[in-house]
Amino acid sequence: MILFDLQCEKNHKFECWFASSANYEEQLKNKMIVCPYCNSTKIKKSLMAPNINTKSTSKNIKKNNKKKLAKNNLENQIKKFRKYIEKNTDNVGKNFAEEARKIYYGETKSRPIRGESTESEAQELAEEGIPFSQLPWNSREDA
Ligand SMILES: [Zn+2]
Repeated sequence: MILFDLQCEKNHKFECWFASSANYEEQLKNKMIVCPYCNSTKIKKSLMAPNINTKSTSKNIKKNNKKKLAKNNLENQIKKFRKYIEKNTDNVGKNFAEEARKIYYGETKSRPIRGESTESEAQELAEEGIPFSQLPWNSREDA
């Protein structure tokens, strides 16, 4: 069954159910569709554009909200992660590369550290196979 919005020659609007689109064409041709207001048989489908527009707009809004939500979630997760790191690691500041190396070679007590390194220091650490990760935020927390 299909519901069509119909309109007569005098712009009376009404709705009517049909078995199919072809069934509507057939009834229209045989003048079986009659305007309930003026009994006119000059009927056409009325445009439903505004209805369609509203639907697609609300869909877009929903999509945007979802995107925003995902971004907020990520920021919250980074914040939580940052708090965890700051609570559970020792800040060695600019000595990061040196300390990481000392820990790796057993010259100092093994402990989780965080700090700053230059790009070339980070590259050297990587080449020596010393495990470290770069954090998704600027590490100058106490600058
Ligand atoms: Zn009418």
